Amino acid sequence: MKICFATHNLNKLKEIQSAVTNLEVIGLNDISCTEEIAETGNTLEENSKIKADYVHSNYQLDCFADDTGLEIKALNGAPGVYSARYAGEDCNSEDNINLVLKNLSGVIDRSAQFRTVITLIENGETIQFEGKVEGEITNLRSGSKGFGYDPIFTPSGYDKTFAEMTLEEKNKISHRGLALKKLITYLSQK
Ligand code: IMP
Repeated sequence: MKICFATHNLNKLKEIQSAVTNLEVIGLNDISCTEEIAETGNTLEENSKIKADYVHSNYQLDCFADDTGLEIKALNGAPGVYSARYAGEDCNSEDNINLVLKNLSGVIDRSAQFRTVITLIENGETIQFEGKVEGEITNLRSGSKGFGYDPIFTPSGYDKTFAEMTLEEKNKISHRGLALKKLITYLSQK
């Protein structure tokens, strides 16, 4: 059985290829899909479904897609679905982190969660898997590993940020790791 992961990100693709043994997982590059699929939804659920639907309807393949957001309680769930472009369309992770720290300046309750939603379309059926990790936004950046908001997120029960963890350590407890685990368990039972 062959399944397409709707991503151009080779790191994400490798991560799942190494975890799934009973199926062949291919990426968008493997099906010559070079377009950036527009994420026009207002929720993680909508965006991951938009990406999976796009591949399913244009390439007639079983597929899955993911979408992730950082949800900060004191900011009413922002940046959430807009995590990649919180500080503007052409911003980078540094700009996004600066804006989060600015918006949380003087705020005591710094609780937040990372949440990933994966949408799987298989044999015409749609099913979603969620993974989340709770934690806190730090006052300052710490660590140089990882990406995105990792330097300012400390998961509950730890005294270091995601950016101070090895990838292996992070994957075991991360939002994406947990959502992937649910997907892999489901696919392994096929
Ligand atoms: P995506 O849906 O995986 O592309 O994630 C959207 C945005 O959320 C990324 O551009 C990052 O800014 C942020 N993000 C996603 N996953 C992580 C993570 O594991 N650590 C830190 N930031 C993340």
